[in-house]
Formats: sequence, structure tokens, C-alpha cells
Amino acid sequence: MPAKGHAFSTRYTGLSNILTLPVKICITGTSDIVYSTNGIIDTGATNSVISKKVVQALKLPPSNYTRVNTASEQNVLAATYIVDIILKDKIRIEGLTVTEGPLMDDLECLLGMDIINMGDLAITNYQGKTVYSFRIPSVQAIDFVEETKKLKEKQFSKTGRNQPCPCGSGKIFKRCCGPKYGKF
Ligand SMILES: [Zn+2]
Repeated sequence: MPAKGHAFSTRYTGLSNILTLPVKICITGTSDIVYSTNGIIDTGATNSVISKKVVQALKLPPSNYTRVNTASEQNVLAATYIVDIILKDKIRIEGLTVTEGPLMDDLECLLGMDIINMGDLAITNYQGKTVYSFRIPSVQAIDFVEETKKLKEKQFSKTGRNQPCPCGSGKIFKRCCGPKYGKF
């Protein structure tokens, strides 16, 4: 199991539609040969995937075979391998079963829900800049609904009756959301 209390963040200078990260892959239990590459986080992948190139470079023996659905084909036979995956902040995921899969372009590693489910993943796009943050183990639930409710209440409580409504309607507060929030 991964060591406790690790986290890392990646900040982009603009909006990013992929979440990339450096990944090291090695034969489970060893660090003799380490394959370094860039992976992507994919919430659409049930299990993590490595490319044929990684399998060959590490001379991985298959641990099993499984049937998988890929973007282009259904029910394809694919070999599985047991590896250790090393991420930033010394996160080492030991003995993970990964599938060899056809990956697009130069991609060599997809980190799927099997890894994401070990911790917490947040993706935000504040001021047009994508930031994602990942921690292991999970510490607490993040609920934007609760947060939005609290933020709204805070804004409404600070607004005077004749000020513009914080909801952005352009109306004054007492003729808009004010009465709904029991202020007038
Ligand atoms: Zn309003």
C-alpha cells in the first residue's frame, strides 16, 4: 500500500483538457529497471493501462489475460502485468495489475480509476487556469454544493437592501433575492 499523506498538484498556464503527469513504472518489488514516461489521468479508464513499449522495455512477464473494451474495439483479449507505479511526492503504488492496451500517439501510460480511487482528485479551472491536485489516502469529501451555498449566504448577508443583488441579475437586492433569503 502507498505510504500515508502524500499529495501533488499540477498547474497549467491556461485551460488544459488533459491531465498529464510524470510516471515511473517498474517490475513490482524492484527498482532495478525503472521506465520513466509521461502518463495521463483518465477517469474513463477502469484500470490503468501501459503500452507495449513499456512491457518490452521492462521485459514484463504477463500475469494473466483479460477481455477489455477500448475506444475502438469491444471485448479484446489483453495481457495484464503486475507493476509498481511511482508518482510525484514519493507515491509508490505497489503490486498494481495493469493492462497492456493500444494507446493513442506516443502515450505510454494511462492512470485509471483504480489509482484515482485510492485517494482524492480535484480539478479546478479558476480564472481560466486548470489546476489538478491528487492526494493519497483520501482525507475528506469535497462538496461544491455545500461550498456554493455557504458562499452565497456570505455574499447575501453582506449586501444592503438597495445594493445590486449578488446573483448578478442587475436588480437591486430588495427586489431580487433579498426577500427569498428572508432579509426583508
Ligand atoms: Zn438576485
